[in-house]
Amino acid sequence: MIKATDNDTLQHDVDTLLASQLAQWPDAAARYRRLSSALIRTLTLRGGTFELIHLPDRAVSTCAPTDARSIARRPCFLCEANRPAEQTRLPLPDTGLEILVNPFPIYPKHLTLPSLEHEPQAYTQSLLERMLAISRRLREFTVFYNGPHSGASAPDHLHLQAVSPAALSQITPGNESDGIRMLKKRDGVRLYFQPGLTSRPVTASGTDIAKVAAMMTKALSLLPIRHGDTEPRVNMYATYCGQSEEAALTAILRDRHRPSCYGDDGVVFSPGAIDMGGRIVLPRKRDFDTLTPTQLQSMIDEVLLPEETFNRFILDCISHPL
Ligand SMILES: [Zn+2]
Repeated sequence: MIKATDNDTLQHDVDTLLASQLAQWPDAAARYRRLSSALIRTLTLRGGTFELIHLPDRAVSTCAPTDARSIARRPCFLCEANRPAEQTRLPLPDTGLEILVNPFPIYPKHLTLPSLEHEPQAYTQSLLERMLAISRRLREFTVFYNGPHSGASAPDHLHLQAVSPAALSQITPGNESDGIRMLKKRDGVRLYFQPGLTSRPVTASGTDIAKVAAMMTKALSLLPIRHGDTEPRVNMYATYCGQSEEAALTAILRDRHRPSCYGDDGVVFSPGAIDMGGRIVLPRKRDFDTLTPTQLQSMIDEVLLPEETFNRFILDCISHPL
């Protein structure tokens, strides 16, 4: 397991990678430049403020077909053999992953962390531990996982992503005074949810990352798995609080991959972890200009786990030993 040390240079190495990629890779550099002047506006829902960002460059990901047949037909863009010649890698020893600069950024620092092997997108307790360990080393980043039916545009190749600055309005690990609802407190790990937030995030937090990952894995095992899926539908986020030295793993529980209005005649919106976390990526100007709080609320409600199933899960978390 990778460890954080006082002389850890990973954060510095990532900044060096970003700078050198932007100097050597004109396509990626142009997209990072366009990101810096992207249009942004905010919509306030009952459960928090969401930031809309208009990014035409993200159409490639938002509109990517993710059905098994289309995936099987295209070369995997996360496998080293198919990557652009300009893309270089930063090794991440002992994790089975490596670090790449994401050439289609949503934040000024946006990384993709693919597995060294071409293997399906799926979480394990070990992957969650690695997410937490990486977020402890990359303190200014949020490290996240999109489930294969919850926003991943490469469901055939295991990968994480990381973004900075890590200010996702729906991902703010809380305390008892913040209106959180405690589900379990054991062995230095707290499991709670935040009923006041639109995305109803569920968080496990503590200083021992192995215990945090174990608590979250056990909690998620209480969720139903849809026919044909291999795991519950989730977006997950690892963050680290330097002050309390607590690592937090937050899950947003999902149902649909895309809202029913998705498409040319509706809204081009394919929510992944960043969208559910509070930054809504809209590649089409018309959607950016016209989206209302009511429409956004209804699209989010549609892709979240239905309230009844969510409430049953919450009761199960309380009654189950975990
Ligand atoms: Zn691959």
